[in-house]
Amino acid sequence: MAAAESPLLQVYAPPEQIFVRGEGCWIWDEKGDKYLDCIAGIAVNALGHAPPVLVKALTEQAGKLWHTSNMFKIKGQTTLAEKYTRDSFADVVFFTNSGTEAIEGCLKLTRKYHSANGHPERIDIIGFQGSFHGRSYAAINAAGNPSYVEGFGPRLPGFLQAQFGDLESVKKLVGPTTAGIIIEPVQGEGGVRAAPPGFLKALRELADKEGFLLIFDEVQSGAGRTGKMWAHQWDGVTPDAMAVAKGVGGGFPMGAFLATREAAKGMVKGVHGTTFGGNPLAMAVGNACYDELSKPEFLERVNATANFLGQALEGVKDRHPNLVVEVRGKGLLRGLKLKIDPKEIQGKLRDRKVLVGVAGDNVLRMAPPLVITEAEISQAIDAIDAVLAAQMAEAGA
Ligand code: PLP
Repeated sequence: MAAAESPLLQVYAPPEQIFVRGEGCWIWDEKGDKYLDCIAGIAVNALGHAPPVLVKALTEQAGKLWHTSNMFKIKGQTTLAEKYTRDSFADVVFFTNSGTEAIEGCLKLTRKYHSANGHPERIDIIGFQGSFHGRSYAAINAAGNPSYVEGFGPRLPGFLQAQFGDLESVKKLVGPTTAGIIIEPVQGEGGVRAAPPGFLKALRELADKEGFLLIFDEVQSGAGRTGKMWAHQWDGVTPDAMAVAKGVGGGFPMGAFLATREAAKGMVKGVHGTTFGGNPLAMAVGNACYDELSKPEFLERVNATANFLGQALEGVKDRHPNLVVEVRGKGLLRGLKLKIDPKEIQGKLRDRKVLVGVAGDNVLRMAPPLVITEAEISQAIDAIDAVLAAQMAEAGA
């Protein structure tokens, strides 16, 4: 069907394949062609496609109870919140349907914290250029990407952007109305860039000194993706609030915001809510997914495969210095910054039945299921090598 005739809003430009089935790191289209999935719905299918443990949790729950609303207690929420708080900086959790809603929650919590402290004028949220926090008004304003905010009316007040990795640019924006800083420990959409060593720690110190909150957006970098449950755990710092989603549901739409009890002091009865967030289906899957992700041997394996992938990508860079600028990212969230349009390479890889993503700043993005094997990584690397070699041959021809 021509795009103009489609009943769908044309805000995406998907390729022609229609995927109908998945297993582990592989998915099949309706023609029966099999693809190696190295993007996992953009860092979502953490345990691979249709993992039996999640299928069981979902189908068992589906036969019992789907939805009650948060007007009633939902046991799975308490169970999962206990696990999240047991293993993290956080004391309290609120479950959402998506990453954007988790971000909204963090931003509301931050302003409400200052308001509860008698400083309602402290509303400024400092974000970073190149960041991505979702598509709600607050999320697009927090990231400040011109192509996402233009045409949607005036910029919301109280959102400023500093340079990623540049502490001085942050300090210039800090003042008496600063409420908080929001940062992805590893920028995803913006080009798969990990915060430079010591940067998160410096932000923590600044936040403590100036009395504002530090928010980590771990929607993409969290849920074991970098080899620790949360990417910031590599840096030995903790935030006051954190947004999570994507991998925590392994493919079921769910997210959460987590906070210290102190930071969440303004979030009292009636100030926030959701119809679907944390419903019994989401909690059944979320609990089962977290139980897998939090096994020490699971994360050990992620670290091993992540090292393998990192080295393999360095090899790609060395073999194709005319096309690859650098290897970026952390764990199993990796990027190859290219000298050419990564979309072209992405398309050619798809022709070879390997699925990858792209990100800003000319980056080819890989975020495979965390259960990917070294053999599967090698298959993907062979395809990347072949595509880049063909590209060079074409350019030389
Ligand atoms: N934050 C980050 C870092 C993300 O990568 C995304 C989605 O890609 C979001 C927030 C928004 O999440 P969602 O699309 O689930 O609303």
